[in-house]
Amino acid sequence: MGRTSLCWVLLLLLGSSCGTSRKTLVAPKAIPMKDEARVEELSNAKLTTEPVAEVKSPLLQEAAAIKAEMTPEEKVAEQRRTGVNKNADWASAVHYDLRKPNFVIIHHTSQNSTAQTIRTFQVPHSKVSAHYVIGRDGQLVQMLNDYERGWHAGRSKWGTVTDINSVSIGIELDNNGREPFPDAQINTLLVLLETLKSKYLIPQLNFIGHGDIAPTRKDDPSVLFPWKRLAQKGFGIWYNEEFLVDPPATFNPIDALKIIGYDMSNPDAAIRAFKRKYIVTEVNGTLTTRDKAVLYDLYRKYY
Ligand SMILES: [Zn+2]
Repeated sequence: MGRTSLCWVLLLLLGSSCGTSRKTLVAPKAIPMKDEARVEELSNAKLTTEPVAEVKSPLLQEAAAIKAEMTPEEKVAEQRRTGVNKNADWASAVHYDLRKPNFVIIHHTSQNSTAQTIRTFQVPHSKVSAHYVIGRDGQLVQMLNDYERGWHAGRSKWGTVTDINSVSIGIELDNNGREPFPDAQINTLLVLLETLKSKYLIPQLNFIGHGDIAPTRKDDPSVLFPWKRLAQKGFGIWYNEEFLVDPPATFNPIDALKIIGYDMSNPDAAIRAFKRKYIVTEVNGTLTTRDKAVLYDLYRKYY
């Protein structure tokens, strides 16, 4: 926007004439024009690679009908406006970022259908939400703008980060916790992860599971989740099964788990989380010789 047109917009907003000397640079309560531009940019940058499939089942149609009145972009615009302190003068800064996600947390819903999950997230008392829900058939439903803070992680910790919701995108896979994850669902997930990784430059190490960040409370996604397949595509990590070697005597598995990110305040729970993901069989709190070799391989390769 040129100086003249900006001037005219300000004139309309402030009820003042351009060039009039003012006590402050810009009057209080002025609407930050640059925010509007950013919000529009955000709106235009909306996820495009995997359009939400047409809603088919009556339950899904019903759930879609209950969706919030405001679009995610409108909600962000509203937040930006209401975030202006009305007791302060406003002089718009030009250098800033919107909150950018840096982690992806993968969940399974423990529910029986996508529609049921969507209803749960839309019930006022549930106090839970996720950015994306992926159905068994591969249908992708977005429920929160990527820049908004979802309520999916709960009390959790990874490395030094304790407010995981503030830095992450939550993805819920429709799965009851005891069944395999169908190919259609994983294929949709992989496309979504690729989009998120390239759009927000999310590091490979930061694609993790709910059970990793809340080992005493959560066990999702289950042992049936294909972490190896994800790691082969660059989301999360895996070990070299062909060349496992015994770690040296100086290797401390508890320290290695802590360096990877696990909260070791309850070592038994953290080891369970590690084994659920990488060992799959015998998910317990004891590290066998092979488990330690797996841990050592991951530690050497990535940390
Ligand atoms: Zn979860």
